[in-house]
Amino acid sequence: MPQVGPICEDVRRRGAEAVREYTARFDGVDLTTTRVAPDVLARALAALDPGLRAALEEAARRVRAVHEAQRPADHVTTVAAGARVTERYVPVGRAGVYVPGGLVPLPSSVLMNVIPARVAGVRQIAVASPPRPEHGGWPAPAILAACALLGVEEVHAAGGAQAIAMFAYGTADCAAAEVVTGPGNVYVAAAKRLLLGVIGTDAEAGPTEIAIIADRTADPAFVAADLIAQAEHDPLAACLLITTDPDLADRTEQALAARVPAARHADRVSAALTGQSACVLVDNTGAALAVSDAWAPEHLEIQTRDAAGLAARVRNAGAVFVGPYAPVSLGDYLAGSNHVLPTGGTARHTGGLSVLSFLRGIHVVDCSAAALAEAAPHIDALGEAEDLAAHVAAVRARVPRGAAIPVLDRPAAPGPAQLEPDGQVATARPDDRPAPPAGLPVRPDLAGGTPYGAPQVAVPVRLNTNENPYPPSRWLAGKLGDAAAAQMGSLNRYPDRDAMALRDDLAAYLGHGLTGRQVWAANGSNEIIQQLLQAFGGPGRTALGFEPSYAMHPLIARATATTWIAGTRESGFGLDGAHAAAAVREHRPDLVFLTSPNNPTGAALPLAVVEAVCEAAPGMVVVDEAYAEFARDAAGTALALLPRFPRLVVTRTMSKAFALAGARIGYLAASPDVIDVLQLVRLPYHLSTLTQAVARTALVYKRDLLTTVDSLRAQRDRLVEWLRDRGLSAADSDANFVLFGKFRDPHAVWQGLLDRGVLVRETGPAGWLRVSVGQPTEMKAFRDALTAVLDAQATAAGEAS
Ligand code: PMP
Repeated sequence: MPQVGPICEDVRRRGAEAVREYTARFDGVDLTTTRVAPDVLARALAALDPGLRAALEEAARRVRAVHEAQRPADHVTTVAAGARVTERYVPVGRAGVYVPGGLVPLPSSVLMNVIPARVAGVRQIAVASPPRPEHGGWPAPAILAACALLGVEEVHAAGGAQAIAMFAYGTADCAAAEVVTGPGNVYVAAAKRLLLGVIGTDAEAGPTEIAIIADRTADPAFVAADLIAQAEHDPLAACLLITTDPDLADRTEQALAARVPAARHADRVSAALTGQSACVLVDNTGAALAVSDAWAPEHLEIQTRDAAGLAARVRNAGAVFVGPYAPVSLGDYLAGSNHVLPTGGTARHTGGLSVLSFLRGIHVVDCSAAALAEAAPHIDALGEAEDLAAHVAAVRARVPRGAAIPVLDRPAAPGPAQLEPDGQVATARPDDRPAPPAGLPVRPDLAGGTPYGAPQVAVPVRLNTNENPYPPSRWLAGKLGDAAAAQMGSLNRYPDRDAMALRDDLAAYLGHGLTGRQVWAANGSNEIIQQLLQAFGGPGRTALGFEPSYAMHPLIARATATTWIAGTRESGFGLDGAHAAAAVREHRPDLVFLTSPNNPTGAALPLAVVEAVCEAAPGMVVVDEAYAEFARDAAGTALALLPRFPRLVVTRTMSKAFALAGARIGYLAASPDVIDVLQLVRLPYHLSTLTQAVARTALVYKRDLLTTVDSLRAQRDRLVEWLRDRGLSAADSDANFVLFGKFRDPHAVWQGLLDRGVLVRETGPAGWLRVSVGQPTEMKAFRDALTAVLDAQATAAGEAS
C-alpha cells in the first residue's frame, strides 16, 4: 500500500504523463500512448499459431455457453394490487480488464474476463496488460491475439498499479471505467484495494490454492499430477491433500518424489510443495469436508468413491472438481467455468468472476395511488417509530389521511403500443386501456398493453397492408394446392427442421452466388426480425433505426427487451450515409435496421448508405428488403455487399411481390455463422411442412407469380403522378405503395375514404397517409373516393368562410 498509494495519486493528478513515466521505470518501455494500434492487434492475430487459435476458440465457446446461462432475467414482483418492484439487471457501461504479462502470459485470462463482461452486455471493454521490451514494447503477442480474437478493440500497454489507477481515474489515452477485473501481482492487488470505492473490483486473486479430498479409490498418479500442476503457478501456491487413507498419502508422496525433479518448473513446484503445502489425514470423508470448508480453498478436487454426493455438501470453495476426470487444469482452460476464483479464504463469502460481476440489479418501483394509500398507514407507523416525520409527510402529501382512496390506477409510464396489421403503431390511450390481468406477474413493459387486434375491415377496396392485390391464378392456386396435398400423407412427421431444400431454392432465386447455407427462412420476415433480435439483441442491448420506418422493428425490439434508439432522417425522408454512420458511431448499437425500399415512405436507399453504415457498425446491420422486387434499380440490393460485410443481414419476404402474404414466408441472406447463431433461438420445426411445400412450389412458378410486379410498378408511378396533378404531395416510391399528403386532418381524409369503401393506412409521419397499389379498378375507386373527400372538404371550408 505505501508503495502504490503515491503511484495511484500521481496517475489521478497527471494522467497519461504519469502512466508513461511509471511504464518507463517499471517495464523499461517508453511509449507515446498506451493504446495498442489496431494493426498491432491484427498482426498478433494473424501470427497466432493455428493450434492455439483453435484451442482459444473452443475455450471461448464453452466459457460463453456457461456464462450465457448465468445471465439473470429481469423479474417483477407484485407485492400488492398496483404495487410492483421490478429488478432490472443493468450492465456497467465500461469495464477494464487486467491481464498480467509477467513470467507466463495467460491468454486464457483474457477469455475468462472479457467473455462474462460481453455476456453481461457491457458496451465498452478495455484490456490492459504490461508492455514487454522483448515484444517491441507491446504486451505479449498471445494476449493481443486473444483480445483480437474476441473482437476487443481497445487494448492498453500498461501494467501494475498504474494500470489500475488508469482505469479508475481515466487518462487522455484511456477513459475511466466503472469496474476493473482480472488477476495481478501484489501491486495490482494493492491498487485494487486502495481504489475500491473509486472503481468496482472483483475478488482479490492472491496466490493460487488447491485442496484435494481423496480416499483409497483415488489414483495417486492423478493426485500427484494435480498437486504439481497447481504448484507450477507460483512458489507461494498452497496445495493440500486431505485423505482418509494413509496408504494413498504414502503413494502420492512417492509419485511426487519421482515427478517433481522432472517438472518443467521444478524450482517453483518444490518451493510450493515444501512450503505452504501439507497432507492431512482424517478419519472419514465428513471430516475431510470439514477441513476443506474451514480453509475455503480456491479449487477443491474430490476424488472419492461418492465424489458427486460429497461435492453436493461443499459449503466453501471457489470451484469444485468432481471425480477423477475433472482436474483443475480442465477448469483453467476448457471446462467453461471461470478460472478467476476467490483465494485466501475469501471463498467463505465470495464467488468467482461471473456475469454478475458486471451487472447491477436496479429496483424499479411502481405504485398506483390506491396502492400507496393502502401502504400509507404502515409508513405512518414506521416513520413515527424512526422519528422521520418528513418521510410520513411525503406520503401523506399524496394520499391524505381520511381522503377517499383513488380507484383508477394509471401507470406513470407512457401507454404501451398497439400493433396493427402491417406493423404501424397506435399508442393506446390510458383511458381505453383494459386493466392488466389481476395478479399475473407480467413483464412491466408489457403490462396494460393492448393485444394485436387492428380491425380487418370488410370493405370493398383494401389498400392498407401493402399486399399484392392480385391473387394467384386458378391454375397456380391448383399447383400450390397439389404441392400441399402431396404432403398430407406425411403430416404425422415433423417437417425438415432446417428447411434445407427451401433454403437452397431461395438461394437460387436470390442469385449473387448465394447457397442454402447463407439463407434462412421463417414464418414471414417478421419472424426473421424477431429471431435476429432474440439472438443479437435482448436485455441490455440496443437497436437503432431511422424513423419513419417499418414500425415492427421497434415493436419487436421491445418484445425482445431490446432498447430501441430512434434515429432521424433528413427532410424529404432521405437518409444520408454520413449522417447515418455518425449516428451508428455515436450509439454503437448491437443492431442497425435499414429498410430499403423504406416503409412507409417508399424510396430505396442508395447502396453507398448501406455501405457507410456497415463500415461504422460495431454489431449487426439488418437491411429489410421486403419490397425489393418493386425497386427501380434491381442492382441496388444489399445482397451485393454480403461478401464484404460478415455482420450484414438482408431480409426478404414472399408476402409482397410473390403475392403470398397468407402463406407466411420470410427469409434472409447472411453469412452461415449468422445462421448458426439463429439456430439457437428458433423454435424447432418452426416452418411447417405445408409452408415449405407451398413456398418451394411458388419458387418453381416464380415467373408466373411475379408477372404482376411490372404492372404494379407502372400503376404506382401513375398514382404518384395523379396525386401530384391534384396538387397533393406524394413521396417517390420504389415499393408497391405511396405515401401522400399532407393533410391538416389526415384522420378526416382516412375516414372519408373509408366511408366510401376504401381503406388506406393512417401512418406516421404526421399529415400523411399511405395507400397500397391495387388493381386498376381499385385504383379508380381510390381516386374517385379521394376526389370526393377533398371536394367535400373544400365545399365545407367554402361554406364556413
Ligand atoms: N418488412 C417490412 C418493411 C414490411 O413492410 C413488412 C410487412 N408490412 C414486413 C417486413 C413483414 O412482412 P412478412 O412478415 O409478411 O414477411
